[in-house]
Amino acid sequence: TQSQSHGHIVMLPFMAHGHLIPFLALARRIRHLTPFVVTLATTPLNLRYLRSTLSPDNNDSRIHLYELPFCSSDHGLPPDTENTENLPPDRIPALFHSSVSLAAPVERLISDITSKDGRPPLCVISDVFFGWSVDAVRRLGTKSITFTTGGAYGTLAYISLWLHLPHRSTDVEEFSVPGFPERCRFHRSQLHRFIREADPTDEWSKFFQVQLKLSLASDGWFCNSVEEIEPLGFDLLRKYLKLPVWAIGPLVPSHMLQKSSPVSPKSRINSLQKHTGKVPGVSLEKCLDFLNSHRPNSVLYISFGSQNTISPSQMMQLAIGLESSGKPFIWVIRPPLGFNIKGEFRPEWLPPGFKDRVTGSKQGLLVWNWAPQLDILSHDSTGAFLSHCGWNSVMECLSQGVPIIGWPMAAEQAYNAKMMVEEMGLCVELTRGVESRIDAEEVNRVIELVMEEEGKGGEMRKRAKSVMGQMREAMKEGGDDEKGSSVKAMDEFVRTILGDSMNGS
Ligand code: UDP
Repeated sequence: TQSQSHGHIVMLPFMAHGHLIPFLALARRIRHLTPFVVTLATTPLNLRYLRSTLSPDNNDSRIHLYELPFCSSDHGLPPDTENTENLPPDRIPALFHSSVSLAAPVERLISDITSKDGRPPLCVISDVFFGWSVDAVRRLGTKSITFTTGGAYGTLAYISLWLHLPHRSTDVEEFSVPGFPERCRFHRSQLHRFIREADPTDEWSKFFQVQLKLSLASDGWFCNSVEEIEPLGFDLLRKYLKLPVWAIGPLVPSHMLQKSSPVSPKSRINSLQKHTGKVPGVSLEKCLDFLNSHRPNSVLYISFGSQNTISPSQMMQLAIGLESSGKPFIWVIRPPLGFNIKGEFRPEWLPPGFKDRVTGSKQGLLVWNWAPQLDILSHDSTGAFLSHCGWNSVMECLSQGVPIIGWPMAAEQAYNAKMMVEEMGLCVELTRGVESRIDAEEVNRVIELVMEEEGKGGEMRKRAKSVMGQMREAMKEGGDDEKGSSVKAMDEFVRTILGDSMNGS
């Protein structure tokens, strides 16, 4: 078989949409750029999601799926809660802890591959949250590679903050973070509640302190980012880890990196569903009709990713600010905090008559729960993205040269926003977190600032376009002189995992 002649790679994503999507995209990059067979292993519900996104044609034939058991009851989780999306935030630590029980089935998978192929897999690529796998896979004779689905700067901040607890001292507003130079001081409001209030014995801290530290001992790190767009982040991360770090991003579908090739709506729907595995709340045609009816760079797209939602009062102020700005927008609406995440839309979340007025005047398009984000971001009419700054959203947005209005909420999002404001100059932060008070006037002011053609908005757009250019350069294939940095990084990864066999050891 191919796997016998070329080698096998096993991949272990954490069970969250924002991790499964880039893991599958990385599997496809490896399939595209190397001759290896990839086995993606995850729990049944997440496997179903991955299966629905794999193409039945030959493109994905070297990507195999393998089911790992989900031991929900061990951690008091109901059976259908295998993905962070199905859990309220305070139950997510249980999902993290349950991942450790995947160790034994992962070891069985590696042993099976070893006996079938006559040699162990070339490496196991594990989520940065699965530090438990590092020793286990090494014991079985294979290399352990960590994949951070975040960027270099944001990942480093996140790790360093978890590994240097606690951060509860109330008298300091600004402080430095180990691994960062003094000029990159952090602010307390950039700490998510779980980090701000962490003490080394709570469930979040116990998990991250152990697992992130173990991941620091792997043989190398993949990062879904681009060397040229965050040079500081990569420099700092490499100094901190003292390991090879391969920037192989942006892990977005290849058609998003080729502006010139028009894609038919039908194949776009297919490619979208293959990428995210979800059916959008409004048809793609409707979104494209809306975007086609507006000028280039004039529409604001608003989405807070796959997990997050805002508070009822924030939602109300955002709606008022949006309407009064008069700017066209597409807004992915979810039940605000305190309401059932799987519940129905309720008009009282928005100002009276808002929905009819903005849809009637074609100012706005409200999309329930899930939007065809890639297609919206790649449309010429999209002029800015009000985003929670989840890293996948950032990569998708910057690969299209679209500036960002940041509203970071959780995980490492505030550090992504910080970098995009301070180092890249293509983001303005509207606010932080779900506890902040925002008023409609501030929403209006920031939208005006970022959507304007000249001034600050124009400058941000120019910077975003230049970053888009760097991202596209990085993915260039060809001879050694033509290859972009992300393609070269994949070559280096291959040399590292083949190192022993090439040296004959
Ligand atoms: N996404 C989408 N439609 C939506 C919301 C999210 O297609 O309405 C996709 C988005 O394109 C991205 C992923 O879901 O690929 C969200 O990942 P991100 O890292 O931005 O945030 P997270 O969900 O992990 O907080």
